[in-house]
Amino acid sequence: MASRCKIVNPYVVKQNKLNIQHNNNDPFITPILKLKTLDTNFSIKGRITKKGNIGEWLNQNGSGRVTSLTILDVANTDMSITMFSETINKWYSFLELGQIYIITNGSLREANPKYNKCISNLQLIIEKNTTISKCPDSNNIPIQRFQFVKINRLENKNDGSYVDVIGIVQEFDNVLPVTSKYGKTFEKCNLNLIDDTGTSICLTLWNDSANNTNAQLKLQNNNNTVVAVKHSKVTDFCGKTLSGAVNTYINPKISETTDLQRWWLSQGPRKAPFISLSHTTNNNVDINNFFHRGNINDIMQYKQNTNNNKTFDVIFKGYFSKIIPAWFLACPNKKRPCFQLCKVKQTLDKSYYCDKCHLTYNTCVHKWLFSNIIRDNTSSTRVTIFDKQAQQLFNRTAEITFARGDEKTHPKFRNANNTEWIFKCRVKQKKNAKDKYYFQTHIVEMKPVDYKYESIMISIVMGLYKKEIINIQTIIRGYLQRLKYNTIK
Ligand SMILES: [Zn+2]
Repeated sequence: MASRCKIVNPYVVKQNKLNIQHNNNDPFITPILKLKTLDTNFSIKGRITKKGNIGEWLNQNGSGRVTSLTILDVANTDMSITMFSETINKWYSFLELGQIYIITNGSLREANPKYNKCISNLQLIIEKNTTISKCPDSNNIPIQRFQFVKINRLENKNDGSYVDVIGIVQEFDNVLPVTSKYGKTFEKCNLNLIDDTGTSICLTLWNDSANNTNAQLKLQNNNNTVVAVKHSKVTDFCGKTLSGAVNTYINPKISETTDLQRWWLSQGPRKAPFISLSHTTNNNVDINNFFHRGNINDIMQYKQNTNNNKTFDVIFKGYFSKIIPAWFLACPNKKRPCFQLCKVKQTLDKSYYCDKCHLTYNTCVHKWLFSNIIRDNTSSTRVTIFDKQAQQLFNRTAEITFARGDEKTHPKFRNANNTEWIFKCRVKQKKNAKDKYYFQTHIVEMKPVDYKYESIMISIVMGLYKKEIINIQTIIRGYLQRLKYNTIK
């Protein structure tokens, strides 16, 4: 390099650069992208787009507090800012998320590429000689450096990757407490976001973010509220879902917001053709809604997810394996509190005693109750089958079967093996007598497969694909997978 041996005054060099780069309104501001590690005398101006919590550090040299923020300048370049104990005391509460500041001096170091999510590969350490002043808001500095990913593209993102997403809030839940297996309590709020790819995804926000966003959404009177999230985690839980975000923005003042709202209004509220990447985790799933379908693998994933202790409903198409029917002896009381659902005990004098209504009867009724394996293309699971669903399956009551004693010979039972149904199953986490957790899955509802409907729905989905409303991965994973093409990912 020719300039290597030349003695230069760095200040003059920077001034020359600034003459080219500077913003007319701020002649002494250095663009973040132009900063170098040796720079000592500089001012940057930008918006605080991330404000981390204060953490602790501890090593052989001692201990202290540390925090990290992100600043974004007019050229849409962001950089990480680090503060330690003393400077935290001085500046942490002064620096507000979303506000604009001029920061003068500090030391610049190479940021650790492993953790750095910013465009600048430097980090600014706030030092004793650093001065910070607040500026009035100006629209020319973006609210955030977003790199939005369309929702239909999230299908291809790996579990654990981070994305920025913007979408219309189709629906949102109340904030619910969740207790983990280890007794830690969280609060969460689920939102369903849809964008102009006609695809929706469930976003779960946690704790403060859940409460703040939920409160703000409740204040919105329209049905075209837009939510943008920065740095949300893609997870493979219940299909594809998003978990948490560094920041959540409601109706952010960016062009994407107006574009989405215009699109949504043109579709008519809630009428947009859509496909959901998430298999809904609430209990409002509808067995008649093709797009609410999940699979047995979702049950397995649910069981592995430690943050869940509430019930989980999943709808899927599956087969019964070999069925061994069985019944129990139920209280004959048709009314409250038994409804012929409580087990009775046979007494020594061949009467039947019911624990629930505390009465003894001469007779009892027989009700179906047994467990069986159901399988689909993704997995298999053991489920409990209650009387109502068993009657549907056999087209026979347990009472008649008991009277005739033909459960091993009648073709009704043999024919039920390997039949295909649409199931709605409920998975519950329960505690046994030894305080250990286990899962119980039972059928809440089931209906025969309507093959004509199935083929119509698949052709609609294919049509959506052709119009590029949904992408091929969505179809392959969600639909063809169930037709045994389950190796394509
Ligand atoms: Zn009873």
